[in-house]
Amino acid sequence: MEQAEIRVRGRVQGVGFRPAVWRLARELGLAGEVRNDAEGVLIRVAGEGSAITDLLDRLTRRPPPLARIDRLERRVASKPCEPGFRIMDSTGGVAGTEVAPDAALCADCAREVLDPAERRHRYALANCTQCGPRFSIVHHIPYDRAATTMATFTLCAACRGEYGDPADRRFHAEAIACPACGPRTRLVPELPGDAVATATALLAAGRIVAVKGIGGYHLACDATDATAVARLRAAKRRETKPFALMACDLAVIRRYCTVSPQEADLLAGAAAPIMLLPAAGRALPDAVAPGLTTLGCMLPTTPLHLLLLQGLDRPVVMTSGNITDAPQIIDDDEALTLLHGVADYVLAHDRPIATRIDDSVVRLVAGTPRVLRRARGFAPASLPLPDGFAATPDLLAAGGELKATFCLLKNGAAILSQHIGDLEEARSFDEYRRSIARYATLFDHTPTAIAADLHPEYLSSKYARETGLPLIEVQHHHAHIAACLVESARPLAAPPVLGIVLDGLGWGEDGTIWGGEFLLADYHAARRLGTLKPVAMPGGKAAVREPWRNLYAHLRAAGQQPETPHPTLDAMIRNGVNAPPASSCGRLFDAMAAALGICRERQGHEGEAAARLEALACRHTLHDEDDALAYPMRLATHRDLACIDPTPMWHAVVDDVARGIPPAVMAARFHKGLSIAVTTLACTLARDTCLDTVALSGGCFQNAVLFEQVERRLRMAGLTVLSQSIVPANDGGLSLGQAAIAAARLIAAA
Ligand code: ZN
Ligand code: ZN
Ligand code: FE
Repeated sequence: MEQAEIRVRGRVQGVGFRPAVWRLARELGLAGEVRNDAEGVLIRVAGEGSAITDLLDRLTRRPPPLARIDRLERRVASKPCEPGFRIMDSTGGVAGTEVAPDAALCADCAREVLDPAERRHRYALANCTQCGPRFSIVHHIPYDRAATTMATFTLCAACRGEYGDPADRRFHAEAIACPACGPRTRLVPELPGDAVATATALLAAGRIVAVKGIGGYHLACDATDATAVARLRAAKRRETKPFALMACDLAVIRRYCTVSPQEADLLAGAAAPIMLLPAAGRALPDAVAPGLTTLGCMLPTTPLHLLLLQGLDRPVVMTSGNITDAPQIIDDDEALTLLHGVADYVLAHDRPIATRIDDSVVRLVAGTPRVLRRARGFAPASLPLPDGFAATPDLLAAGGELKATFCLLKNGAAILSQHIGDLEEARSFDEYRRSIARYATLFDHTPTAIAADLHPEYLSSKYARETGLPLIEVQHHHAHIAACLVESARPLAAPPVLGIVLDGLGWGEDGTIWGGEFLLADYHAARRLGTLKPVAMPGGKAAVREPWRNLYAHLRAAGQQPETPHPTLDAMIRNGVNAPPASSCGRLFDAMAAALGICRERQGHEGEAAARLEALACRHTLHDEDDALAYPMRLATHRDLACIDPTPMWHAVVDDVARGIPPAVMAARFHKGLSIAVTTLACTLARDTCLDTVALSGGCFQNAVLFEQVERRLRMAGLTVLSQSIVPANDGGLSLGQAAIAAARLIAAA
């Protein structure tokens, strides 16, 4: 007989960890107890040594689905255990840094709400320890019912029984509810019959219904109904941004998309993100995802969604419930305003949402899931920091301006906020400030310093300055690479890598705009080794909205005659008036798209032209033996920096346009040409600096065609390639990189 004390750290509270231990211990004939405390979970056991080892083994190999064990320590204990195994009440506080993300409807609850024999049959707010809202309903920690928006619902006897029974899958499920005691759904304006069933019929009849989800309201309509989709676009004032879809099961999704086994697992996982899937099979109205060859699809995330979609054999649009770029509506009263000209009906329920959280977006690229928008199901899970960061003081990193997030460092881990949105939108900036305050309370976090982007005009940088905390400024593209290094668990003391950042716009150390950079980088510093050749952005911000301006400037820079000369633009470029030079890869994509007539005059959102260009390139396959067909780019120098000069490409493009070459062929040649130029320069720089590891980041690497080609070529050249997966390569990952760089500097200075 042995006695042991086992300490478990990680995400182990509020995820069914104690009952899992309880069940295993009883199965293995162990005596003892399990409890939550300020450090995580503490288990005391007595029994055969091999049974104790078995317990640990099985816990580590198969922890409860929502749990994550960071560390497990076993010590010999002297205090004897009483017979039997008990779950004890929490003692003093809870684990420092973990609040579990919201989890999508589990298989057990799905089965239950569809079973007429169950008391939760057709109950839209069913949940259990393995599924349901967490982060979105919690006001403060410790995470128990009193701290959530469920506090006002008093448990009925049946629910109380389940809640207190360790053998029940709702043991200590804090959001437990049933038709007798829990929140209810309602339809506004009210119609006779069951609210959810009526809403299904309304969707089928072409109506727009606002539906309350886990982290906010959505707007839904039949995705196969072109009139309804067009009406929704107009009502939401959303020009071209693709709409997400939801379908009741995989079979429906498979009629419109190809779904690999890996993608199917991700769709059905607890995070249940929107997956960007290749469109195939039946077509949907073009207004769902204009000009794209991917569709963003998800499965029901709550019983409400499952019940709503059960009766529909087709997907529905499930897009954020807001007007244009404002934050998603979470408040029930506010949702009713959607009835004015946006939604025909509102399907609501009375479980309040405490924290707004959008749907996450994931894409499988080169065999790895890549999070493009990190929100529901992922945030606020903490990310471990690599070796060497244990001594980091508590920090806050303010992030970027588009796709904004912020990041807290605490106890050697990073807590990256959910995607907030573009801060230029005043309501998103309000949301950003409120969220920072909320996280500070929730995680009991008091930063000693704040990191921010070098950009003098970013609202996040201004916010950082206003806090009065010691400010650590971080260059935009350095932060991109650092985020990639953190994710790759690159230790603080590791040698530098060659960072390749293909990006939109970021403030450079020389006060010019960067966006296609080759950096010799570690956490401490970044030195620019190479770049895309800077080209003017005539009109500044207008050039981001209007791709033709970039085409014009690129043609001029390449010595080509634009179709229609534009003397004003020429003067702006010549005199450097409101035409800042930018080495931006995003603007190169815009210029190329414009050359092919894609979003030539205007793009609805940054990245639209590039996404459509990629979709076009997917229609034409170029193989490795077709390298000669790639558009040529020249390696040159620009102010002592190695640089990629696309001049020869523009000559070829002008020729191809004149010869009437199909746009898809040209798009494919462009992607291949850029990939070859980037990898050729990377290989030269890696050789010159004796580096064997390359890190890829920046928004342009969300382009699967570009990413796959660049990554494969670098690997074939014998280089180790680091890239991003759980943190976006776009500006949504900046705050994590800023935090790591600031920590590195503070640790070095200590
Ligand atoms: Zn469940
Ligand atoms: Zn109940
Ligand atoms: Fe960026």
